[in-house]
Amino acid sequence: MTSRTGLATALCCAILLCAPSALAQPPAANQMPSVIQVPAEAQATPHFDATAATNAYLAQIPADKTARSDAYFEGGYWMILWDFLYGIVVALLLLHLRWSAHMRDLAERVTRFKPVHTFVYWMQYLVLTTILVFPLTVYEDYFREHKYGLATQTLGPWVGDQMKGLGVNLVLGGLLAMLLFGIVRRLPRTWWIWGAVVTTLFLIFVSLIAPVFIFPIFNKVTRLDDPKVVDPILSMARANGIPATNVYEIDASRQTTRMSANVSGFANTMRITLNDNLLRRASPEEIQAVMGHEMGHYVLNHIYKGIMFSLIVTVLAFACLPWALDWALQRWGEKWQIRGVGDTAVLPLVVLLVSIFSFVITPVMNTLTRTQEYEADMFGLNASRQPDGFAQGAIHLGEYRKMSPGPIEEWIFFDHPSGRNRIYAAMRWKAENLKLCTSH
Ligand SMILES: [Zn+2]
Repeated sequence: MTSRTGLATALCCAILLCAPSALAQPPAANQMPSVIQVPAEAQATPHFDATAATNAYLAQIPADKTARSDAYFEGGYWMILWDFLYGIVVALLLLHLRWSAHMRDLAERVTRFKPVHTFVYWMQYLVLTTILVFPLTVYEDYFREHKYGLATQTLGPWVGDQMKGLGVNLVLGGLLAMLLFGIVRRLPRTWWIWGAVVTTLFLIFVSLIAPVFIFPIFNKVTRLDDPKVVDPILSMARANGIPATNVYEIDASRQTTRMSANVSGFANTMRITLNDNLLRRASPEEIQAVMGHEMGHYVLNHIYKGIMFSLIVTVLAFACLPWALDWALQRWGEKWQIRGVGDTAVLPLVVLLVSIFSFVITPVMNTLTRTQEYEADMFGLNASRQPDGFAQGAIHLGEYRKMSPGPIEEWIFFDHPSGRNRIYAAMRWKAENLKLCTSH
């Protein structure tokens, strides 16, 4: 669950997400009004005021919808904590009950050939932890999403997707585990540096293949060919020096009611994808605003900067590992029957330490992402010149995100600017470009 979500988050920078397909099913309980009308205070008049316009947009959201999406989003804060604590408990169980050592012994009985041994261990580890975490996964990804009207799958297809995710993790995680344990065994002093480099290269490799080989496992990805949608997007792309000849559509409505678009891939596989919920529910102005934002990620090299940043974070994490592993193994290594850092049975301890590290740096990661999202917002406003479409998008996003958090709350938990701040940024742009806006 979280691993797949995490993978997806790392790979693509998902942007404006929104809501249910109005055509395929009745409106979900959380569905925001499809704001097509620009409120009077936000009309391009000589008396235009960005704050008043922002408040007028926010006033269009019914109080019960705000309460509902606030509850969903704030519940997410607790989910971060429960996921973390649950993961810690699972790792400690595997270590204290020596299940990890048993899995290592079993893998050794299958083969002594190290890479295959590592893979056999990984297979057991992945299946066992998936089963142990399943109650939390099914609550978080299935029941909770349904409760808030964000999920579209019945249990059968949902379990099917979980199995596919397990398969992807088996192959990709197994490959990474074989590489990393190989490095630890060969380079006992400097493994942490090479481990960080190889992990980053692996991330680049996965980013490269994801749009072509991984996303299609879960969804149908097609070339978008409706000229009404594609032509303005490609025109905006040409105007901003983006060599795109295609825009892609993904049938995200198979799993979710959220609207979204993203830039994914790396080098030759880099592409912009819109999801079908966005195409169905958003106005043309909103789609252009969203596309302007996505192109911002592209032009501002956010994927490359993200990779650089993840290299820094990965090096930091790996640099803490030798010390933390030595410290823990000296105390409990014998009890857990772990022979050293090159022993595959050490994996739950590594996962435990890495999850503490990730938990602690969550606000830093969120702030980095949020800063890039803000940059993409600014680029998108300039490129699309659709401040009202942008405000509509921000409101649609409010179906699953809190619109008006406090500043500290936003700093810690938000990986995108809050809805209120995004609408305000759009209205601030509009205030300075009233002449452009009156022509629409
Ligand atoms: Zn974005």
